[in-house]
Amino acid sequence: MKGMRPFAVPLGLLLLAPGLFPPSAFAGGGKVRVVATLPNLGSIASAIAGDRIDLTTIAVGTQDAHFVDPKPSYMVKLRNADLLLVNGLDLEIGWVPPLTQGARNPKILQGAAGYVDCSAGIRVMEIPSSLSRAEGDVHPYGNPHYLTDPLNAEVVAGTIAGALGRVDPAGAEAYEAGRKAFVKRLHESLFGKELVDLAGGAKLSREAAAGTLDAFLDGTSLGGAPLRGRLGGWLGKMRAVKGTPVITYHKDYSYFAARFGIRVEEYVEPKPGIQPSAKHLEDLVQVLSRGDIHLILTRPYVEHRSTDSLADKTGVKVITLPLEVGGAPEATDYFALFDFATNQIVRALAAGPPSGGR
Ligand SMILES: [Zn+2]
Repeated sequence: MKGMRPFAVPLGLLLLAPGLFPPSAFAGGGKVRVVATLPNLGSIASAIAGDRIDLTTIAVGTQDAHFVDPKPSYMVKLRNADLLLVNGLDLEIGWVPPLTQGARNPKILQGAAGYVDCSAGIRVMEIPSSLSRAEGDVHPYGNPHYLTDPLNAEVVAGTIAGALGRVDPAGAEAYEAGRKAFVKRLHESLFGKELVDLAGGAKLSREAAAGTLDAFLDGTSLGGAPLRGRLGGWLGKMRAVKGTPVITYHKDYSYFAARFGIRVEEYVEPKPGIQPSAKHLEDLVQVLSRGDIHLILTRPYVEHRSTDSLADKTGVKVITLPLEVGGAPEATDYFALFDFATNQIVRALAAGPPSGGR
């Protein structure tokens, strides 16, 4: 053995077996540099990966995700990124392509391993049958606001953890543990801890995704009483207002409404992306005056003149619900966002039907 250097491995062997030597970029304490386009994606990534990643989020929650200014400072962040998380379904079509082109980082170009479209595996709602500007500013691949249904965050968490594990194989186990902890907390928040302990989060999630949760809870008894009585969490809280007809400003609460059983009857926008005319508002006053719609949901960043005047004329309450983490001071992370949204709705409806306008 004399004269032989320890660990002398022929270079060719190293090159032939890259899998034996996971990329060491992050091994020496360097963190995976992750850029998220939107705060909800950033919040989920942060919950999964903690301080293994160095996270930058481009848009803030009070901004309209459809329209973000592609500033050069974002390109600098993207130039050094290992991973880019996008919502996809063309939500960021106006600003992500100019940013990635300007960043000149091949790792995060569409199609590269570092470009992560978080809409993968999502069951998309409202896919248009025809594409025409006459339909307003439609999203051609369907409604992209899928993270307003917390159950979709389970899918997104899997996508993000998988992508992190691919760029940082040494951390794959940690990301998977982070994903599991996130999903467990998500199930407990959505269904309540007691029911998750009784029925299992994965089972409840499957039933809810299939639209059969109610049937399952009614048809399964425990000690002579149906499981329904054990439903807690956001769904348990929202049961009190299930079936409530509402108006929303834009078509961005479709997933939320479907999950929680709220009925969206009308939109303040006559067509997605089009501001209401005086005529459309007058029509809405007629609809609201019938008294069966109890709530108007609007967003932080749209004009409030229309909704204020509707409330003024009809007495129907308006609440501003954030869609993204940071859209209200209370919405500090993805869980707090739904705590806040569900509390706001339940509180607004607890007061009973509208008292009539002036
Ligand atoms: Zn939209």
